[in-house]
Amino acid sequence: MMSPEANGRSAPLLVGLDIGGTKIEALLVDQQLNVWAQARRATDVSHPDNLVVSAIAAIDDVLAQAHADRAQLTGIGIGIPGQVDAVAGDVSLAVNLNLKTYPLGKVMSTRVGVPTFVENDLNIAAVGVYRWLQQRESVANVVYLSIGTGVAAGVVLNGRLYRGSHGMAGEIGHITVDLNGPPCNCGARGCLETYVAGPAIVRQALGSVTFDCPDEEVHAGHVYQAAQTGDEAAQAVVQNVSRHLSLAIQTLVMLYDVDKVVLGGGVAQTGDAFLSPILDELVQLRAQAPLFETMLPADIVTLLPAGYNPGAWGAIYLAKEAVWD
Ligand SMILES: [Zn+2]
Repeated sequence: MMSPEANGRSAPLLVGLDIGGTKIEALLVDQQLNVWAQARRATDVSHPDNLVVSAIAAIDDVLAQAHADRAQLTGIGIGIPGQVDAVAGDVSLAVNLNLKTYPLGKVMSTRVGVPTFVENDLNIAAVGVYRWLQQRESVANVVYLSIGTGVAAGVVLNGRLYRGSHGMAGEIGHITVDLNGPPCNCGARGCLETYVAGPAIVRQALGSVTFDCPDEEVHAGHVYQAAQTGDEAAQAVVQNVSRHLSLAIQTLVMLYDVDKVVLGGGVAQTGDAFLSPILDELVQLRAQAPLFETMLPADIVTLLPAGYNPGAWGAIYLAKEAVWD
């Protein structure tokens, strides 16, 4: 973290907000992208106006931490779930946030007095992931596949975010894997998400896997743990999940012909126990055809480090491009 004294109290700053169903992560940076402060707040989803109150509170948290004030803010970037009209800053269909249609960009820029830029959370996270990758290697085409409570991908092509006609490019969680599969939150059946999202992994394990955590609510990490300690039922679930994910990776690569598929999200934070069975499945896919050997090289998949918040950083880059670049 930079000391505010070293930079002066008049330094222009940007804030990036990653708004999720349960928490808001805020990141405050200066023009050189030095981190001045970061904070986390609970999301108030009782009413859209209260969501704005909690978002502004998160901004005031980071400003207070950095001994800076609102006058130094030159832009706000926001990543939020749902369908986003990035030009108008309107958010719709954000079911988990109790938002049907809401002019979030306009409300925030009026209330804080600073230009505000809004983008879908996965799209913006893909930008954050792309910038993170750029610091390590030069790549033009990248997909970020997030596996958490839901499953979705964000796509960067030729260094630019690819949104599609409805801002929904990469919504791979709702491609149909089995027409007769389990019901999905979206109303359809057998979506990819009903096999590989965190709750789906738990659902497949309950009843057959013996867990070591009687007092805790079971989450996907526990299933991976049980598989690693030799529980055969857990191993079968992990293999099924990994097979579906390897096919999802293959689908994304064949559709977008990318250099990298970066995996992230809550389930991916299980780390190597999560990644290595997926890599095993990819080895088998590669053996099937020379085409797959070319398109799915061993290093095409990378795990995002747990400490990097691609949503908050993507929001910073979104605002930076609009305000400073
Ligand atoms: Zn679905």
